[in-house]
Amino acid sequence: MSDARDGDRAAWLQGPGAECSSPAAEQEHPWRLILLGAPGVGKGTQADLLHKRLGACHLSTGDVFRAAATRTDCAPSPAMQQALEYMRRGELVPDATVSEMVRERRGCLRCRGGFILDGYPRTLGQAESLKQLLEEDSLALSAVVNYALPLHEIVERLSGRRTCQQCKAVFHVIHQPPRTEGLCDRCGGRLYQREDDRPESITVRMTAYETSTAPLIRFYDDLGLLLPVVADGSPEQILARTLGELEKRHAWNQQKAS
Ligand code: AMP
Repeated sequence: MSDARDGDRAAWLQGPGAECSSPAAEQEHPWRLILLGAPGVGKGTQADLLHKRLGACHLSTGDVFRAAATRTDCAPSPAMQQALEYMRRGELVPDATVSEMVRERRGCLRCRGGFILDGYPRTLGQAESLKQLLEEDSLALSAVVNYALPLHEIVERLSGRRTCQQCKAVFHVIHQPPRTEGLCDRCGGRLYQREDDRPESITVRMTAYETSTAPLIRFYDDLGLLLPVVADGSPEQILARTLGELEKRHAWNQQKAS
């Protein structure tokens, strides 16, 4: 799984010098989406599923940081090293670093397959910076999906989450256990607990979400882009709910354009 999908996202994961080995196919109506929601609400899983259904590229800023942390061919830049320290503590990386990183990768926002932003923007400053980037390229967001779930369920999901070191597939010790404990069903890679999924980091991340990210709900609601989706149930159920909302939005956009 890592091969094809990570190859597809090389320009995003590695930065401007890299080219995607199999770029997304052109879509007649490319979806340009933002997924909002607290850490652990399932945005990454939904972004993957939506990527398969809509063809739009899954662009996660957290994946860029994790890719930089595991790269062996070149050392991270000083700015990236500093960013990784923030990440290890579960804190938000400063806006200037994140916005610069996305600006360098702005070609991905022009992807002919569209995009699904996961974990970005996370502050009002980042939302403003993204708005400016999109306006410069005359690109419009299609919608902002806001996944909602009670706090205790989020904490339970995060602390039980295990990720494959090789292909990044995600499991849960109780809700989605692998067939063999500690090993990935897809590629046999070792499963690990992300450093920032440990209890002490979870608390920091939830506080960062409440103070910095939750105001984005209002920001995008005011722009008429927000689509609320309840994030309980299986990934497939949440996907069905999301697609239902997107269909309604698509019909509404069509009506507005005619
Ligand atoms: P995620 O996988 O999206 O939960 O991101 C993992 C970690 O990377 C976060 O806890 C932050 O430390 C950092 N990070 C990812 N995206 C951003 C962002 N847009 N702004 C600030 N920090 C970020």
